[in-house]
Amino acid sequence: MKFDSIIIGGGVAGLSCAIRCAEAGLKTTVIAAGQSALHFSSGSIDVLSRLPDGQPVANPFEAFNSLKSQSPEHPYSKLGEQATRDALAWYQAMMDERGVYLTAQNDDSNHLRVTPMGTFRSTWLSQQTVHQFPLSDVAQGLDAVALVTIDGFRDFQPKLAADNLAKLPQFKGVTIKTAAVELPDFDTMQRNPCEFRSIDLSRVLRDETKLHAFAKSMIHQVGKVDLVILPAIFGNGDGAATIKLLEGLTGYKICEIPTMPPSLLGIRLEEAMKSHFKALGGLILAGDEVRRGDFENGELKRIYTKNHLDMPLIADHFLIASGSFFSRGMSAQRHSIEEPIFGLDMTDLPHRDHWYQPEFFAKQSHPFLKMGVTCNSQLQPSLHNQTISNLYCAGALLAHYDPVFEGCGSGVAISTGHYVAEQMIKAQRQTTDDKQQERTFA
Ligand SMILES: Cc1cc2nc3c(=O)[nH]c(=O)nc-3n(C[C@H](O)[C@H](O)[C@H](O)COP(=O)(O)OP(=O)(O)OC[C@H]3O[C@@H](n4cnc5c(N)ncnc54)[C@H](O)[C@@H]3O)c2cc1C
Repeated sequence: MKFDSIIIGGGVAGLSCAIRCAEAGLKTTVIAAGQSALHFSSGSIDVLSRLPDGQPVANPFEAFNSLKSQSPEHPYSKLGEQATRDALAWYQAMMDERGVYLTAQNDDSNHLRVTPMGTFRSTWLSQQTVHQFPLSDVAQGLDAVALVTIDGFRDFQPKLAADNLAKLPQFKGVTIKTAAVELPDFDTMQRNPCEFRSIDLSRVLRDETKLHAFAKSMIHQVGKVDLVILPAIFGNGDGAATIKLLEGLTGYKICEIPTMPPSLLGIRLEEAMKSHFKALGGLILAGDEVRRGDFENGELKRIYTKNHLDMPLIADHFLIASGSFFSRGMSAQRHSIEEPIFGLDMTDLPHRDHWYQPEFFAKQSHPFLKMGVTCNSQLQPSLHNQTISNLYCAGALLAHYDPVFEGCGSGVAISTGHYVAEQMIKAQRQTTDDKQQERTFA
């Protein structure tokens, strides 16, 4: 099978690249072995919340120069501010068309979102159903909030979250209530304790009779508050619409926070991207896994997958966006770390004793989180020190940044995926022009 571009990995990096390629008319396929990190994420897009030295960042783009001087090899330092901004603007507009509205603060600064633990985390873009607490005035306009769950739901504990919220200086003077609202027939619907994760609840709450009963019970238990915070238990395609309906039924302003996985807020992004890619004519080989590839003269010629071991997939351009350890894009042995598909060149490895900080919650990043595939400024990796000209790398597999400590995971994934796509598109157009010229002169 021959494609213009083959994308290895179905996370936010791979899908961003794939969609942009398909938009430009490239025949594109995505090979995705398993679930992406989005199933575990908040569904908010972190762009840059902390510099590598630990300094908090209020406005990500204003911090790009400091980032470059602290970390010249950081993916953002390679892309630069404009390419990163362009990628995020493209992503916002593309998701907007799919009905997932992602917004930032008007002044381009980060905002805070509440975590399921009742702490704040800084991020840049959030979905329309997530309450944005501005950095400058966190509890702006709030006198009382309620943390509400479904009675018996295990993946969000409002009392724990309320205790933590109450300790935050920014919430001094704000009344914090909790409630566990009963869902009709909950006991009979729950066959075993593992059932009724967020995704199961979303199916139940699609039933308008149950949603009405839920709304009634909520009004009764919560009383007067300025904001109701619910765990994300509303569906993928229609979640935002259901919340609007619930707001109408209760009169409350309602927002969502992520739950323990599966995280519907993250899954919503993934579903929207996948359906858009398919609508553009893209092909997703879900559940297949790339095993190896053939390289000739500094180019990747073909790849072999679990399901196509004797029928290689061929393309002009390839992207590897197979994620970090979490998604098995990288694997660690006792004294080595490798990229398991092609064995691409990785960052220099210090002695194992220096892979992590002595304290888990350290003030600095754990070094193993910055390990990954090394690339040139075009995001092309190398194999045995030879640059592979038609292979690119994006997302969590890249070296020299820590998505968790620096709060930049999805931002790097989207912008590097988009940056690679633009290069593939340019190269493809160049090839078409060259062929056209050859034909003209022939
Ligand atoms: C638990 C968790 C929570 C996070 N929360 C947030 C958040 O709230 N906001 C934020 O901005 N960032 C967050 N991040 C960081 C961010 O989600 C990641 O940096 C980003 O999603 C990485 O995307 P990716 O596409 O590079 O990789 P991934 O999402 O890891 O996707 C990699 C894909 O490659 C596939 N793959 C692997 N090997 C192969 C193979 N051989 N063949 C084919 N496919 C393969 C995997 O199955 C997977 O589909 C979080 C990360 C984690 C781990």
